[in-house]
This record gives sequence, C-alpha cells and structure tokens, in this order.
Amino acid sequence: MKTIALVAHDNRKRDLIEWVEFNKETLLKHKLVCTGTTGRMVEAALTQNISLSGRKPDIRILRSGPLGGDQQLGALICEGEVDMLFFLWDPMQPQPHDVDVKALLRISSLYNVPTAINRSSADYLISSELFDSEYKPKLKNFSEYLNRSLDI
Ligand code: PGA
Repeated sequence: MKTIALVAHDNRKRDLIEWVEFNKETLLKHKLVCTGTTGRMVEAALTQNISLSGRKPDIRILRSGPLGGDQQLGALICEGEVDMLFFLWDPMQPQPHDVDVKALLRISSLYNVPTAINRSSADYLISSELFDSEYKPKLKNFSEYLNRSLDI
C-alpha cells in the first residue's frame, strides 16, 4: 500500500476529479493525503457510488493549500511519508501561495518522489509497471553538504 498525495489548483480540480473517478479502484487500494479543498472533493468522488470492491477511501485531509497545506505535504515528504505526488498546478493563474507551490515542487524533486504535474503525466505514472511494485526512490547522498566546513 502506498501513500499517494493529491493536490489540484482550482482551475485543475475538474481534471483531477475526472482522473480520480477513472482511477477509483486503483486509488482505493492506497492511502491518500490531500490538501483541504482537493481532499474534500476527492473524498466525495470516491464515496459517491459504492466502489466495485466496496472499499472506503483511506484519506487524510490537510489544510487548504494557501493556508499551509502545501507546506504540510512538503513536511510529510521530508519525513519519507509520501510515495508519490500528483500535483495538478495551474500554469495560467498566479497563486497567493506561489512560494509554497514552488517549495512543494522543490522538495518532491529533492527527495526524488515520483511526481505528476499534469493529467497526462498522472496517466503515465498510475499506469506504470512500477506503480504496484516495491519501488524505493534512490536518495542523493547529502553528507558532503551536511559536513561542509563553515567559517564561523
Ligand atoms: P486546496 O489547495 O486543495 O485546498 O484547494 C490546493 C493548493 O492550492 O495547493
């Protein structure tokens, strides 16, 4: 079972919810963690009709993105608690929490977390052969950075 993070900006929520409905049976087998508004919509989409498997979503809903949800997610990535990130961010509209958006994308890249940033990459990621495997992302060795000499 993986922990899958789902986040969508307002103009991308429809895309994400359609995608969630299409991939419902797969997503219900995993733990989900979402920012606030996205999470409530994902939960509604996954509970709307009884799933084939009869499963209920295992979903953790964080704060709304602009209220700190992206940062909560970033912290979970640092703790190694997120296996995959689906983040449909909006390339057409400035976000009040732009710095948090960048920080989340940076931290997912730093920790080599498989990340989909649009619907097609989400399709590729969820249909990858590796999706159901025990894949552990290789982590960069930060010891040189951690042991750098500081002139203080
Ligand atoms: P939301 O946040 O799910 O609370 O809308 C998403 C975001 O803007 O990061």
